[in-house]
Amino acid sequence: DQVPFENPFVEELRGELSGNKGSRQVPGYCYSRVAPSPVPDPKILAWSEELGGFLGLARPEERSAAVAMLAGNLLTSGMKPFAARYGGHQFGNWAGQLGDGRAISLGQVPAVDGSRWEIQLKGAGPTPYSRRADGRAVLRSSVREFLCSEAMHYLGVPTTRALSLVTTGADVVRDMFYNGNAAPEPGAIVARVAPTFIRFGNFQIMAAHNELDNLRALANYVLRHHYPELGEPSPAVYVHWFEEVARRTAVMVAHWMSVGFVHGVMNTDNMSILGLTIDYGPYGWLEPYDPDWTPNTTDFGSRRYAFGQQPHVAMWNLMALAQALSPLVEDARALRPGLDVYAETLAATQHELFLRKLGLTSLDRAGDQSLIEDLPAALAEPEIDMTIFFRQLAHLAPELLAATGNEEALFSKLLEKAAYSIAPNEDQTLRAWLHRYTERLRQEPASAEAIREAMLQANPKFVLRNYLAQNAIEAAEAGDLAPLETLFNVLKTPFDEHPEHEELAGKRPDWARDKPGCATLSCSS
Ligand code: AMP
Ligand code: MG
Ligand code: MG
Repeated sequence: DQVPFENPFVEELRGELSGNKGSRQVPGYCYSRVAPSPVPDPKILAWSEELGGFLGLARPEERSAAVAMLAGNLLTSGMKPFAARYGGHQFGNWAGQLGDGRAISLGQVPAVDGSRWEIQLKGAGPTPYSRRADGRAVLRSSVREFLCSEAMHYLGVPTTRALSLVTTGADVVRDMFYNGNAAPEPGAIVARVAPTFIRFGNFQIMAAHNELDNLRALANYVLRHHYPELGEPSPAVYVHWFEEVARRTAVMVAHWMSVGFVHGVMNTDNMSILGLTIDYGPYGWLEPYDPDWTPNTTDFGSRRYAFGQQPHVAMWNLMALAQALSPLVEDARALRPGLDVYAETLAATQHELFLRKLGLTSLDRAGDQSLIEDLPAALAEPEIDMTIFFRQLAHLAPELLAATGNEEALFSKLLEKAAYSIAPNEDQTLRAWLHRYTERLRQEPASAEAIREAMLQANPKFVLRNYLAQNAIEAAEAGDLAPLETLFNVLKTPFDEHPEHEELAGKRPDWARDKPGCATLSCSS
């Protein structure tokens, strides 16, 4: 049921698009019908087999109609492409209307289990919400979004997914800070997949413009399609729904904190109403442990979105959502308990996740919470790589349990593998913590091997370090897809050893520390 681009249906949509060129306000609407703009030479670079299989889609052949669709060059008659209208707080300030400036949803497809999934092309050309930008995405940021969406899924973190990565054959001029000048870069499109991409900001724009009918219609749509278990919309159900959004947001943030993920731009327009990680931009993973670290150079001044701030920022964002939803409930104070649900769920989920990481799952000991709380300070002093630390702790567990009296030597081994810097005495707090931990571990009734195995399943060996993504990007830009494929494969089973790929599991090399893209990135991509 394919419609080639010359089809009048598509032309009609394209006519709509050209009428909507430029920056404009779209009051009174939840979304705008808009077609992708065609690209000269689409090529498929990456495909998510597992997600494709779930959606009943096979990897497309090069130059096939399916590739044309994933590049926005071909629509089917069943597609009703649209860009959503949303607003948001950017870095704490109300920014007014933002909207899908470079993302165009094609519609929904049923998965093999009957659930429905929205497919959205990111970088598919201008929309009414593009403001002064081009609606395009560069290969570099598209590789990052593709890999990270999938990596997060395989880590067990709630996230939107990525189905495909295609290059467009057209250059895009972007970030002058990336390569020293505003040289053209290859353009690309990621097909993102989620039950919906509706964000906090979709509700905020309605509330800000006093479009209460739209606000209610959107809330009812989300309730009926994405939270049907909560029942038919009513003021009491809206309250319950907000609590559920808060709960899911807390679970998401707890997972981020447990794997050392820093989103980088937690603006309210980048907060999914389903509690999914969304909009992968200048994100990163903690390498030297530092709660104050952010990969986002745009945020270097205020560090609003630094690793350790994420739990607070999500709460702030939920307050902004509560404010937007307040016209739907009789008394805005009824939304207050949702914020408590957030705080309680965050604390409980983090506690549970960290106990699993530490292999302390059989007993409930009073000191466990303080053991978890004291770890960040201990890791920060010697600049410990969070991922390597937990993974090595898992491997060391049997030796620690054996109680041979050589703990200090084992700790030294761990530090050598995981620390970026140990100035004299900087490891004392961590060594003291490790002694406390060892004592507690020895109370666990499970066998050493069972503990080790459980810890290996809770502590990934591989995360998408920025420098690894950057290496894969530079190779792909030079026409070599092998590093991208290798990295993607390893990230699909990040809890496995992959002994042939130790080079993807080590500390960030020195050369990568200050290289753009390898540690830090800017917002614009
Ligand atoms: P972000 O910082 O990626 O969350 O984007 C903030 C806003 O800018 C959203 O409305 C995006 O759709 C829009 N935007 C970002 N990049 C582009 C682009 N290249 N073209 C059009 N709109 C963009
Ligand atoms: Mg965004
Ligand atoms: Mg973005």
